[in-house]
Amino acid sequence: MGITKLRVTNFWQQAGAIAINKYANQAEVQITKNELILNVPKKTIFERAKAKDMLTINQKPWASHIRPFLKQYRIEQLEKFFADAEPGKNVCSYCGRQVKKLEVDSLVSNPFSVKANNFTNFYGFGSGFKSICEDCQFLGIMAPLALFFTTSITGRDRRISYVFPEGKDLEETLLIHNWMSKVGQKSALSNVKLSTKYYPSSPYETLLLTLYELYKDSGKLFEANYHVIQIHDQGNTSTVLVNDAFNSAQRLQLLFSEMEALGGDLSNFFNAFVIKENGNISTELREKLSKNILKFLQLEEFLEMMIFKLGRPIKYLYEFIRAYTKAGGGKVKEEILEICKKTGEQIGNVVFEAENFGDLYTLRNSKNIENFLETLSMMSVKYANEKWTLKLPEEFLRVINNPAEWKKAKSLTVIFAVNKYLQRQYARTMNNGGEA
Ligand SMILES: [Zn+2]
Repeated sequence: MGITKLRVTNFWQQAGAIAINKYANQAEVQITKNELILNVPKKTIFERAKAKDMLTINQKPWASHIRPFLKQYRIEQLEKFFADAEPGKNVCSYCGRQVKKLEVDSLVSNPFSVKANNFTNFYGFGSGFKSICEDCQFLGIMAPLALFFTTSITGRDRRISYVFPEGKDLEETLLIHNWMSKVGQKSALSNVKLSTKYYPSSPYETLLLTLYELYKDSGKLFEANYHVIQIHDQGNTSTVLVNDAFNSAQRLQLLFSEMEALGGDLSNFFNAFVIKENGNISTELREKLSKNILKFLQLEEFLEMMIFKLGRPIKYLYEFIRAYTKAGGGKVKEEILEICKKTGEQIGNVVFEAENFGDLYTLRNSKNIENFLETLSMMSVKYANEKWTLKLPEEFLRVINNPAEWKKAKSLTVIFAVNKYLQRQYARTMNNGGEA
């Protein structure tokens, strides 16, 4: 057996090389830039991985997080990929080397070379476009072992979420992967250990909460193209539900540090979006929120819809919106945020005193500036009769009357109004008289 030299050309192959490195001793493997040199037979590495992580607790192929990728193979069928790629006349589509024997490109080679929305069935993968050498195929086989994952199970329904950091080359990916492994643990359902109260089971929340945990641990985040994948595994068929990637680490780090500086607690903020549904814990809203945050999309309208759904106050809401804005999400001017918070809380207070929660729906449903102002003036007249004063600051009216700003400002005002109302309501149920 000679020395195997592998050159990685995509993130899936990077994962394969990281996994090989994981099961090799220091003297057996060397990684430089995009190259991995292996001094032991591929079979040796595979056997070690199999003994440690590839099988179920009953020693059957395959462990649940490996299964979606390898289930079309029996173990002995993989043997053909353990041979060394010999020089020849055929060009491998992946590493570009001239080799004797080529395999048809398949799911194992790189299951994510096709975007999820282009195919519904995992095995509808278009094979035959490319040819691949045994070495590159081996990288593909090993790749699932380097992924971070969490699982959610409902009956026979299994959804597995995967995360993998892709650095600018293999050498850097190894560094980032080692850093991420700090939150590692070994279990059949997940290899990520988090201190959050509600464990994530969907891909975006898994990535976001993992990065937050890593930030708390090391005070920084590594730049990488973070891949998030979710596979729905139903025994015979597997479907890719999510296949996405982010390189927003720098902005996330800013969000985390700003949140910290304002005294906010992000875990606590996220927990507000986990709800109980028919006795089950649902993280669906937190997942949607996480996706928006990772993409740094505008959040005002989303939060405006959410807060009515949640029906309870969101802790550190203001701190979050401010930190998020600072980190470049949403593009709300700081002074507008302050005005809307002040006005929104005033509205929330009077609506609570008057016990007219319905007015907040009316406010939310305003279609235009005139409509919004009409509702507000109707409210102030109505409440004045009952001795609760609603006085809108000049500066607020100026913001609302600006066609470019009014919608964002309206959403923010409603968010803070509802949150104030819910805080008061919560305080009252806690039996201290409804004082905010
Ligand atoms: Zn190759």
